[in-house]
Amino acid sequence: MNTRKIINEDNINQLLEEAKKASKDKVETIINKAKDCFGLTFKEAAVLLQIEDEEVLNSMFETAKYIKEKIYGNRIVVFAPLYTSNECTNNCLYCGFRAANKELHRKTLNRDEVIDEAKAIENQGHKRILLVCGEDEKKTDAEHIVDSVKAIYDNTDIRRINVNSAPMTVEDFKKLKKVGIGTYQIFQETYHRDTYKVMHPIGSKSNYDWRLTALDRAFEAGIDDLGIGVLLGLYDYKFDVLATLIHSNYLDNQYNVGPHTISIPRLRPALNSAIKEVPYPVSDKDLRKIVAVYRLAVPYTGIILSTRESAKLRDELLELGVSQISAGSKTSPGGYEEDDREATQFETNDERSVDQMLRVVAKQGHLPSFCTACYRANRTGKAFMELAKDAHIHEFCHPNAILTFKEYLLDYATAETKEDGEKLLEREINKIDDKKIKEETVERLKKIEDGERDLY
Ligand code: SAM
Ligand code: SF4
Repeated sequence: MNTRKIINEDNINQLLEEAKKASKDKVETIINKAKDCFGLTFKEAAVLLQIEDEEVLNSMFETAKYIKEKIYGNRIVVFAPLYTSNECTNNCLYCGFRAANKELHRKTLNRDEVIDEAKAIENQGHKRILLVCGEDEKKTDAEHIVDSVKAIYDNTDIRRINVNSAPMTVEDFKKLKKVGIGTYQIFQETYHRDTYKVMHPIGSKSNYDWRLTALDRAFEAGIDDLGIGVLLGLYDYKFDVLATLIHSNYLDNQYNVGPHTISIPRLRPALNSAIKEVPYPVSDKDLRKIVAVYRLAVPYTGIILSTRESAKLRDELLELGVSQISAGSKTSPGGYEEDDREATQFETNDERSVDQMLRVVAKQGHLPSFCTACYRANRTGKAFMELAKDAHIHEFCHPNAILTFKEYLLDYATAETKEDGEKLLEREINKIDDKKIKEETVERLKKIEDGERDLY
């Protein structure tokens, strides 16, 4: 595979240079085209990435919001990360887990500890976990991930486990597929080769091509829900966002399935990080633009926002097209049971509890969703994309969001959130147009009140 053809740096630079010359009319035409929800070409996305004018940016934000509502409705999927290990043999300059950080309290959770963490997450109301670990051939190999996933599914009510881990061989990806992971997620960090080389000096992660082709191997192993992203701040965000879109398009052309999600992690301070100053700072304004560009360019791809961002900015970004958020997160192994700041990967920025977060989400008129139905009903990969593209996915997602939020309100919510949440649910039920779906949802809500769970 010629990876330099997939990510052609000269081509990306040229697109960005050309984009600077676009007229105001051209920009307006692109934004209007995006409203049709068919996405944008790289050339068009490059034009939007160059925009600095506040008025034009606002028009992009409004369009992003419109597209999000049209495709996803007002639901926001909620999850939490579970770190099973912070042991790592790589030395990514920006990460607290890097091998050269001798002060980090290292730990790999055993089976019982993984279950305890998952239960602590479940007790916050979560049903969906993102399993994360450092890369250590001996301690965090595919078996470690497989055993952890199995232990959680067997011993908790967690219904979907996504994984963010080091790239693997096809054989190892098959093991993950077999144990029933949801999305496999991996960030290229930066698509710019020279910067990648500097940031990842040693270990298996120093191999750019092995990382870039991870999703091809995952797909070959049968995993068709894939997540991508870059670590914003390492290199020029315009280059990296455009490269992310190009990688997404490559996967779509090659396998008929684009990535299920794009994440937007922005560089955070980390214990003994070798990076004292962000090399290419990404401002809040830039981050808003990035979310909007993704929403306009690949309308059917979910956008994931983590607690790396502040509460204020997160609340704003929810309006611009984000479709999944983490909440109540800890970034150290064992962090939900006992928070050890000297074991964390990076500092989080939104310390609100799940309940506080959900109250805000609901107050903004969004519908929190703990739904995991698609993956368990085999609506993944191509099947999911086809439903999404016909805008039918909403018919499943909306009622399922209502049902899972109802479970949360009954089992975990504080009195205040319950009150606000019930009002929201009433409004949401009345929004269901299809008479049959509405009756079925009301009936299921009754069953949930009577003690049944996990109806979809
Ligand atoms: N170790 C595996 C790897 O590097 O692919 C998997 C998980 S790693 C713990 C998850 C992600 O955290 C990385 O891909 C990187 O983008 C992000 N990350 C690392 N250090 C960070 C920092 N200081 N601030 C924000 N995100 C960071
Ligand atoms: Fe290890 Fe991943 Fe951190 Fe790099 S980003 S040091 S591979 S945990």
